[in-house]
Order: sequence, then structure tokens, then C-alpha cells
Amino acid sequence: MQKSNIVTALAALITFSGTANAEDNNSAERANPKLVVAISVDQFSADLFAEYRSSFTGGLKRLANGVVFPSGYQSHAATETCPGHSTIMTGVHSGRAGIIANNWIDQSIEREDKTVYCAEDERIAGTSFGDITAATQGDFVASAWHLLVPTLGERLKKISPQSRNVAVAGKDRAALMMGGHDIDEIYWWKGNGFSTLQGRKIMPAVARLNETIGAKIDKARPAFDIPARCSAHSAKIMHGEGKSVGDYAFQRPDGAASIYRGSPDFDRSIIAAATTVINEMKLGQGEATDVISVGLSATDYIGHAFGTEGLEMCIQMGELDRSLGEFFDILDGQNIDYVVMLTADHGGLDLPERMSQQGVPTAQRIDPDLNAKVIGKKVAAGLNIPGDKPVLYADGPFGDYYVSLDLSEEQREQVKDSAIALIAAHAQVEMVLDRDDIASIEVPRGSPDEWTLAERARASFNPDRSGDFIVLLKKGITPIATTQRGYVSTHGSPWDYDRRVPILFWRSGIQHFEQPLSVMTVDIAPTLGALIGVEITADQTDGQCLDIDGGPANSCE
Ligand code: ZN
Repeated sequence: MQKSNIVTALAALITFSGTANAEDNNSAERANPKLVVAISVDQFSADLFAEYRSSFTGGLKRLANGVVFPSGYQSHAATETCPGHSTIMTGVHSGRAGIIANNWIDQSIEREDKTVYCAEDERIAGTSFGDITAATQGDFVASAWHLLVPTLGERLKKISPQSRNVAVAGKDRAALMMGGHDIDEIYWWKGNGFSTLQGRKIMPAVARLNETIGAKIDKARPAFDIPARCSAHSAKIMHGEGKSVGDYAFQRPDGAASIYRGSPDFDRSIIAAATTVINEMKLGQGEATDVISVGLSATDYIGHAFGTEGLEMCIQMGELDRSLGEFFDILDGQNIDYVVMLTADHGGLDLPERMSQQGVPTAQRIDPDLNAKVIGKKVAAGLNIPGDKPVLYADGPFGDYYVSLDLSEEQREQVKDSAIALIAAHAQVEMVLDRDDIASIEVPRGSPDEWTLAERARASFNPDRSGDFIVLLKKGITPIATTQRGYVSTHGSPWDYDRRVPILFWRSGIQHFEQPLSVMTVDIAPTLGALIGVEITADQTDGQCLDIDGGPANSCE
């Protein structure tokens, strides 16, 4: 929309009564889209997008023919699911959003392990954190209360009360971080079906969908097509005793729910739930613009269980492309004027056992003794600190480490210095950053590909929640010591294989262009906001509006 058109724009902003239709392709004249479809494909790295791009024929091909930013950045160091999803619809870095990691330590809470899950409300009595791998199934109350900033959908509802803000995802944290607090309907997968916030009812159509899925979830399924391009990816890679990945095509006659989550069928279910909610609520068909956030989680479960470069991911990329195409075809069929944005919460890295065969001889699993428990015991012994209470807390071998608040100030300083010295000397550790050093710098506004490691850590730092120091591992170190629990590879590092994600926009009639220079996921909310009349001011975002009009008009004005 052009500056000269500001009166029309204002009218549209106030009344939301534009008369958009699919044939009206003149961007200067165009009304606001009626539906924003914001999709996050969990663990869909820029590398996966590049690797499979030429093979796409469905929904991802359509997006690749829209506006393409192949070098999007989840700019922060803590490249995990919750921080990643917290940047996409808020326009701020994860630290400012309050989401420093999937889990962090809060020594003020009663629980013995002091661990808090990003998408829970631990203030509600009787809940427990449980095991991280069971985080989405455990005994806790899901909530967006840790998220400190509003999402795009919430901002829209403030100025346009008829607008609906909806989220559907495979993971609770994806739905909650993209949807936010003020949400009309929200669903995520839990156990054997879609669940919602405590105290809310599941709409009947979603309950019926749950029955349909439940009836087939543990049954054998027909084989997926194995495209010719996948044959080169099909090779058995051993990891641990008698365990392998690389040649599995998702056909297990006794497939249980956990396997279902790690198969292309899971994304189909999430898209079916999103479609059901769109149909039931008639999203995009009212006077006002609606927002739906969709979190497709299968790519992440498949990446963790099988790595990123095997037959399994090759099949998944084709199926994801196909199911997105089916989703967009349904939206086309309803004559909704919708805009799609697709990105990812983080990238990912293949398992070290395959990487070491494929050009990265230095790829390794982490030393099992590199963690807060072992290091803490060594430090306490060295300093003659008595007792069995831990002196160090951390959720995992990298990221935020916390020194016990039960110690004296003097002891805390000694523990911190001694632990940092021990960890920094480890061959797998790139750098240990002291919280004071991180807090003293500013998050840069410029190109995220040029940021220092400390600047990346600053973007996921929050003074009230972050640790006393932050551990960053060397490139190619997989922070999973043993594959016994089923996860073979992961993400979470400050390196670009975990930070770089595609950012794609599509709307009917959009002029294709590709901009290879780096942009950030914090640019997404201001960019989409400008299309729907939600102004996100410079002080409210760490990003900036991207002009996605490929011609002389400017979608940001
Ligand atoms: Zn994720």
C-alpha cells in the first residue's frame, strides 16, 4: 500500500471492512488479508529447505514462488523450541520475551530439581515438572504466563475486538508461544489427541477428529512413497548397541502414539485440526482479520529420532510439502483472502555417527561427565563445601548454569569461578560466558550472521531468569551423550546450522522475489502487522517490517 493511500489504509484499519477478493491483485489497491496463517515447521532448517527445494511440488513450492528469505535467523544462542516460537509472533528476541530456554532453573520454587518448563504455570499447586522428554505429557498446567510480551494476534484483538486469535500445534509450547495469552481457541497434541487449556472445552468437531485419529493411531499404515531422490539417503547408520537409523520408512505394524508423533502422519493430523478449527469458526470469512498460528511438529520429532540426512527426513520433506499443498487447496476452496508465513523455531544438525562418515570427522557426542551434577560435585569437593545439596544447577549440559543460592556470597563466587575454569578447559567447550559480561552488552540490530557468540547469547538472555554463566559447546558437538532414550540428534547451539531458518511469505497474486541477505524471525510480526493494520512500533520490536511487495509499492507503509 502506498503512502498516498493512507486514508484508505486508515479506513481499513478502523473498520476492517475491506472488500478483498482473490482476483484483486493490485497491491496498491488491496484490502487487508482476512486471515493470517503463520506456520512454524519445527526444526525446518534453512539447510533442509535448500536441500529439498528443487523437489517440492506442493505447498512448499507455492511458498518458494512467493517472497523468499532463505537466510532467516533465529538470532539467539538458545536455539530451542520454546525460545524459537517466542520470537515468531512477538517481534522480540527470546530473552526479552522471557523465554530463555525450553526449561530453566528457578531456585525459589518448592520442587526439588528447581526446573521450570517454559509453557507451564508452576504456581499452581500440585503440579510437577517430571521428565523433560515427557514434558508435553507430564503433570503440569500448560500456560503462556512466562511469555512477557503480546503476540501479533493479541495486538490485533486489542484494536479489532471481532478478530479471532487461534493456535493449533503438535506441541503445547509451540501453540502457546505463537498464540499468547488472549486466545480464542488453542489446541495441541497430548497423549492420543488434541487438548486445550485447563478449564476450557474442546469444540465438538475437534473431539470428533480426536476419535477419528484415535481409531487409527496404533494401526499399521500403508507404506509411504519413497521418491527416487531418497534412495541416496537410505543407508543404515549404527548408533549404540544394535540401534540404527537411516533406512526406516515409518512402517511399524505395532506403531504406538510416540511413533505416530515421529511420522509424517502427525503433521497431517495437526493440519486436519487447523482446518477443522478454521471451518468451525469460519476464520477469514468475517468482517475482521483473523490470525491462526500453526505449529507442525513432525519434522522435529523425526530429526531427533532419525537425524536430518537419512531416508526418514527425505520422506518427511516430501510428505510435508504434500500436506501443506492440501491445506492451501482447502483454503483456496473457501475463497478466503489469506496470507501465509512459514518459518521454523530453529534448525538442526544430523547425528554425529552419520556426520563422521559424511565429511565431518570431528563430529562427536558430548562427554557424559560434562554436566552440572558431575562438575558441581568436583567443585564442591575442591572447595571443601560439605553436604549433599547441589552447588550447581542446569537443565542439560549446555546453556544456563546456576550457582546454588543456599551458599554464602563468598562460596557462590568461588563455586562460579571454579566451575567456569573447569568447564572452559574442556575440549568440547567453545566458550563460557559470565552473566555480567552478557548483561553489559546490547543486542545488535544489524545482520545476525555477523554477531559474536556473546551477542547471540545476549539475545536469549533475561536478567530475571538466566543463569550465572552460560556454556556454549564447540561446533559439531551433539549434546546427547547416549542414544538409549531414542533421541539421536538435536539442536540448541549458537551455530548457524541451528539458527538459520527459511522465512517465506505467500498471498494470492504476490510478486515473487528472493532476498538472500539475512533477516530475522523478529521481523515477522512487524511485517505481518503492517499487512493487517497492526502497527508495531520500533520500541516494541527487536526487528523491522520487511517490505514484501516486490515492486515500487511498500507493504510497510
Ligand atoms: Zn523445536
